[in-house]
Amino acid sequence: MKTALVTGAARGIGLATARRLLDTGWQVAMLDRDEPALRAAAEDLDGASVIVADVSDPDQVARLPELIAADFERLDGLVNNAGVADFGPIRDTTFERWRTVMATNLDGPFLMTQALTGLLAVRGGAVVNITSISGLRASTLRVAYGTSKAGLAQLTLQQAVELGELGIRVNAVAPGPVDTKLALAVHTPDIRAAYHDAIPLNRYGTEDEIAAAIVFLLGEDASFITGQVLAADGGFEATGIGLP
Ligand code: NAD
Repeated sequence: MKTALVTGAARGIGLATARRLLDTGWQVAMLDRDEPALRAAAEDLDGASVIVADVSDPDQVARLPELIAADFERLDGLVNNAGVADFGPIRDTTFERWRTVMATNLDGPFLMTQALTGLLAVRGGAVVNITSISGLRASTLRVAYGTSKAGLAQLTLQQAVELGELGIRVNAVAPGPVDTKLALAVHTPDIRAAYHDAIPLNRYGTEDEIAAAIVFLLGEDASFITGQVLAADGGFEATGIGLP
């Protein structure tokens, strides 16, 4: 049975992805640094295993290949979904806040993919990085978050080009706004109203709509697709309108 590791799987888009993968016949290892939330989420899912780890910690990530090999015979998919958001302009963004965002959103996928390339290469696996429409456009509020996601989009291309010879595909999903704890913390009423107006489908996406795009890119139906950043955003990117 195919096995995928999903980071940031305790809630939100990561949890929806774990659920959808399980529903479509994958084995799933759910990874998160929030142990109580992770264990509670996994209890509701039949057959998921849990790994408590922080993707920004090189020592914790270095232990993952051994942990995964102990539980599973193979690793076919890696979803680098764990992310944090911190909205603010350059002048209000301390170096500490900048580093916190970069550590999870950019260092994390770098460390994870580097650590798990050996396992993924055994049978030619796939990686899906979760970027954001905030990484496709500049805005006054997203100096750290937007830059981290733009970096992750470029990391996706770098990884796709380099790991192709190992049979590993690497793509990204760039979600538009989705009502999760992350978005609720940074989307003010003004931002929400502006998104509703600007998005051609006039609504936020759902966690499961993003999970569907992730599972597609991870699976066999996408076997000749690599190095792509797929916007799942209700058409926002097509409008050319600036981020609210
Ligand atoms: P969320 O806050 O609901 O869930 C994120 C999960 O990641 C949490 O369970 C958290 O504990 C975990 N996490 C955070 N840092 C971690 C770390 N260093 N190590 C391990 N686990 C960690 O967020 P979400 O909205 O589901 O976001 C998932 C991804 O989608 C993120 O990368 C986010 O940037 C991206 N995204 C979200 C939206 C949106 O509107 N919600 C839009 C575009 C992109």
